[in-house]
Amino acid sequence: MPSAEIITIGTELLLGETVDTNTRTIALALRAIGIDLYRTITIGDNPGRIAQAIQESLQRADIVITTGGLGPTVDDPTRQAVARAVNADLEYRPELWEQIAERISRYGRTPTENQKRQAYIPRGAQAISNPVGTAPAFIVEHDQKVIISLPGVPREMETLLNQNVLPYLQQRYNLNEVILVRVLHTSGIGEGLIDDQIGDLEQWSNPTVGLAAHSGIVDVRITAKAETAEQAKRQIDALEKEIRQRLGRAIFGADDETLESVTLQKLAQRGWTLSAVEAGCDGLLARRLSGPGLAPVHVEILPSLDSDLLAETVRQTCQKYNTSAGLGIALAPQEEQTRVYLHLHTPLADQSRQLSYGGHPRNAARWAVNMALDWLRLEIEST
Ligand code: AMP
Ligand code: MG
Repeated sequence: MPSAEIITIGTELLLGETVDTNTRTIALALRAIGIDLYRTITIGDNPGRIAQAIQESLQRADIVITTGGLGPTVDDPTRQAVARAVNADLEYRPELWEQIAERISRYGRTPTENQKRQAYIPRGAQAISNPVGTAPAFIVEHDQKVIISLPGVPREMETLLNQNVLPYLQQRYNLNEVILVRVLHTSGIGEGLIDDQIGDLEQWSNPTVGLAAHSGIVDVRITAKAETAEQAKRQIDALEKEIRQRLGRAIFGADDETLESVTLQKLAQRGWTLSAVEAGCDGLLARRLSGPGLAPVHVEILPSLDSDLLAETVRQTCQKYNTSAGLGIALAPQEEQTRVYLHLHTPLADQSRQLSYGGHPRNAARWAVNMALDWLRLEIEST
């Protein structure tokens, strides 16, 4: 399998002003066509440091993909840096200038002389014309290795990646393997217990099974490699069925589903409505319940609340917002642990729970919110 490294270029990334989303987009795409990604790097707009980073990456990997630094200004350093890294000069490509000028005119502007910089690419490079922006991208083949330079603007980058770069890589490396991933989300069952139940499956080499724990939620990741997407999907389906049999209701969803999206969906199916109270959680429950695509839920946010008052406050909130169900969380930090008080009001019952969280206090609210949502989910499922 060929290996790759990604170099994202831009001082704004290092200053923390722009979040690097290109790395993730490329990483997901490489994974899907069976290219191993071993390292990602971010460098500012400095041609010397970029050239050095490219040379270093070429020592380790077959493919180096850069994003950013292809604009028309002097501080757009990538063309220079790639040329320097492979000891080539920059070559003016009139056909690229024609495309760039044509595109700029279509925006209703007059092409300027400095925009001509974008028509210079390393000598011998294969140009990739850019249908969604002005900066052309390019591919340089050098000593059995490949450098691919893409624009920084995420939408442009992604278009060229999908339309040009991935087909190029698949053909060049004869990649007839696809990798598919499905993530099953569990809650209310620890990593250790899951390990006991499916430890034998974690030894498999294809599909592989891996666990990742996040404060009360444990993800089970199934990764399959096959010649076609259908084959990979069949492998995943079979293993998923086995894992679902073993873990049962601990699995609350897959892939993009979240504990809150699943719980609110079940709540609506059950015909219940929800309001909630949180104390000492910094608004986390309210943020989780107002995620994209979720039906609105009223959440009262209190800085703190005496645990004796939690049940009553939940009932009052239900009355205030006229909902049939109410969920309450109150956190009480102590020396070694955090006390977590939960209250659940439904049309069928009123129940309270006390838990203690021994992990880092920073994660206590996240854990408590997950415990509370999971309790509500299981309560809806079992009634
Ligand atoms: P550039 O091609 O370097 O001129 O980048 C153009 C714009 O794309 C920048 O101003 C950023 O807003 C954005 N950008 C560049 N690199 C990235 C990246 N790695 N992730 C997300 N956005 C980026
Ligand atoms: Mg830039």
